[in-house]
Amino acid sequence: MDVVLLGSGAADGWPNPFCGCASCRDAAERGTVRGQTSALVDGTLLLDCGSGVPAQAVRLGHSLAAVRHVLVTHAHVDHLGPQALLFRSWTSAGPLDVVGPTSALDQCRDWIGPDDPVRLVPVSAGDDVVLGEHRVRVLPAAHRVMADGDAVLYDVTAPDGARLLWACDTGPWPDHWYAAVAGARYDLVLLEQTHGRRTGLGDGHLHLGTFGDVLARLRDVGAVDGRTLVRAIHLGHHNPSEPELTAALAPLGAAPGRDGERLAVPARAGRPAR
Ligand SMILES: [Zn+2]
Ligand SMILES: [Zn+2]
Repeated sequence: MDVVLLGSGAADGWPNPFCGCASCRDAAERGTVRGQTSALVDGTLLLDCGSGVPAQAVRLGHSLAAVRHVLVTHAHVDHLGPQALLFRSWTSAGPLDVVGPTSALDQCRDWIGPDDPVRLVPVSAGDDVVLGEHRVRVLPAAHRVMADGDAVLYDVTAPDGARLLWACDTGPWPDHWYAAVAGARYDLVLLEQTHGRRTGLGDGHLHLGTFGDVLARLRDVGAVDGRTLVRAIHLGHHNPSEPELTAALAPLGAAPGRDGERLAVPARAGRPAR
């Protein structure tokens, strides 16, 4: 499985363009710029497509021409910029599935022309779908746009058997949700960590403390083990400077994701290919 992070920042990016806080100034001085979080998997499957993501892809040197499936977690603008469907329609791009909760797909309809080869595939937590060569299990998210259940997470298995968890956006899971990922032994976990050292901003996102808690629970149930690559994504400006963030994540077995980072994720020996 070949994964490229097209963005690793929160909705507003990091640095936030309008902010002069120490964290934003430090990131700007280092030239560590993070756009809206998204990942391109095996060139064909796009995980979230916020309004800024297509331009981020181009600037990072990645084409979206081969994308056939877009998995949208929820309808927040940093995860779904449906205008991209119009821009795509001006090309000779082929068929496309847009997969996501019904409320997210509703945002797409006005951007699809009558002859566009775009299929909307509604999903909800618990669904298990095959998209081209990838298998996708849909998981619940502790996050909402307008109503409970209108945000989801994705568990993706590549043709070579490698398996990733896309957990963005979510707050801490209730205990009984972990049964859905018990024994998953993910090869790659991409888990949001929006708020850094800032607490008290609600339970729809994770901060460094709750990020550690969720990771510990994932280890308890065998979803994460010593061979799982873990990246913190959806990073916002309440995070400390890059070296401090890296140092805070290291003991948790995680590292901050970076825009443009390419993760070649080998499947584990003994895991069947799809
Ligand atoms: Zn978000
Ligand atoms: Zn959100």
